[in-house]
Amino acid sequence: MRTAQRIADLPPYLFAEIDNKVAVKRAEGADVISLGIGDPDTPTPARIVDRMAEAIRDTRNHKYPSYVGAQRYREACAEWMQTRFGVDVDPDEEVVALIGSKEGIAHIFLAFVDPGDVTLVPGAGYPVYTTGGILAGGDYHYMPMTEENDFLADFESVPADMLSRARMMFLSYPNNPTSAIATQEYFDRAIEFAREHDLLIVHDNAYSEIGYDGYVPPSFLERPGAKDVAIELFSCSKAYNMTGWRVAFACGNATAIEALGRVKTNIDSGVFTAIQDAAIEAFTGPQDSVAELVELYTRRRDRVVAVLDSIGLAARKPKATIYVWPKIPAGYTSASFATHVLDAADVIVSPGSAYGPSGEGYIRITLTTPDDRLDEALERIRDTL
Ligand SMILES: *Cc1c(COP(=O)(O)O)cnc(C)c1O
Repeated sequence: MRTAQRIADLPPYLFAEIDNKVAVKRAEGADVISLGIGDPDTPTPARIVDRMAEAIRDTRNHKYPSYVGAQRYREACAEWMQTRFGVDVDPDEEVVALIGSKEGIAHIFLAFVDPGDVTLVPGAGYPVYTTGGILAGGDYHYMPMTEENDFLADFESVPADMLSRARMMFLSYPNNPTSAIATQEYFDRAIEFAREHDLLIVHDNAYSEIGYDGYVPPSFLERPGAKDVAIELFSCSKAYNMTGWRVAFACGNATAIEALGRVKTNIDSGVFTAIQDAAIEAFTGPQDSVAELVELYTRRRDRVVAVLDSIGLAARKPKATIYVWPKIPAGYTSASFATHVLDAADVIVSPGSAYGPSGEGYIRITLTTPDDRLDEALERIRDTL
C-alpha cells in the first residue's frame, strides 16, 4: 500500500521521542506529571452542561446540522462580537460555525492555497498553520519571532520571492506558545501589509478571554479596515473549558467566510446542533466562569514564574494565555532540556522548537494542571537543576 506524498511531506512529530519515553516510564509505574498539554483541567461550567442536556433531548437537533451553523448560533456569535469587542459582523455573510478552530485552520488552506502558494506562518505557532498548508500542497515561510521584538512575527522581513507567492498570513495574539500579546500598532501594520501584498490574514484568537492583571485581549477586527483583509477564529475550547466539545466560529471578511463555508460544505456536515445550543449558552449566559478561570490561572502563573525565576529559568510574566515560556539553561537545546526534565524529574514540558524555529531556546509550560500536581512538578524540576 502506498500513501500519498503529502503524508511523507508532513514534518516528523517532535514529541515522538518524549511520548515513547513517557510510555516506558508509565509502564514501569513512574508518576509522570504533564505540563505539556494545553487542555483545561477544570470542567465545563454547569450552566453549559445543563443546556446541552436539554438540547440533546430536543429531537429537532437529531438531524443533519446546517453546514455553516444554525441561524441562531451565528446570531449569537455576532452578538458576542458586538458586546465583547464592539465589532459588527453580519451573521449571514460574515460568520461560519467551526468544528473547533483547528478544523477551520486546516480547511482555510483549501480555499486559499493552490499547489506552490506560500503561507506566512509565525516562527513559533500552532502546528496546524504549517501542516494544514502541507496537506493542501502549499509551501510555508516562518516569520521570525524574537524576545527583543516581543515575539511579534516579523512579516516585514519576508523575502520578496516568498512574498510574491504568498496568499495567506497567520497571526495569533495572545500567542501560543510564547504568551506574547500584540499592540494595536502591530495589527494596523499587518493590515496595511496584507493590503499591499494581497494577503488574507487569519487571526487565531483562541485566548481572547484569558487575560491577566486587567489586560483584556482585543479582537483583530476592532482595527479599522481589518475586515477588508482578515478573518478571525474564536473557540469555546479555552474560554469555556470545552476542548472536547469541538465548537468554534470564524468571522470577518465575507469572501473568505463564503469560501471557507464552501470547502466545509463539501467535507463535513457541520457542528452537532445540540452542541451549538450549548455554545450559545456559553456566549450569551453569565460570564462568571471566565473570571473564575482567569483567577485560577493567575494564581498558578504567579507560582510558576516565581519558582522558575528562583531556579534561574527566566520567563516573562504572561499577560494572557495558559502558557509560561521560560528560556532554557545554557548547554541545552529545547529538545534536550525537555528530555532532561522528563528523565530526571518525570515531568513533561514542551520543547519550544516543536512550534517552529523561533521556539528554539525555550520550553512551554502549561497552567492547566491541578495546583498540587503543579507544585510537585515545579519542586521536582528545581531538584534536577
Ligand atoms: C487550542 C488552540 C487551538 C485549537 O482550538 P480548538 O477550537 O479546540 O480546535 C487553536 N489555536 C490555538 C493557538 C490554540 O492554542
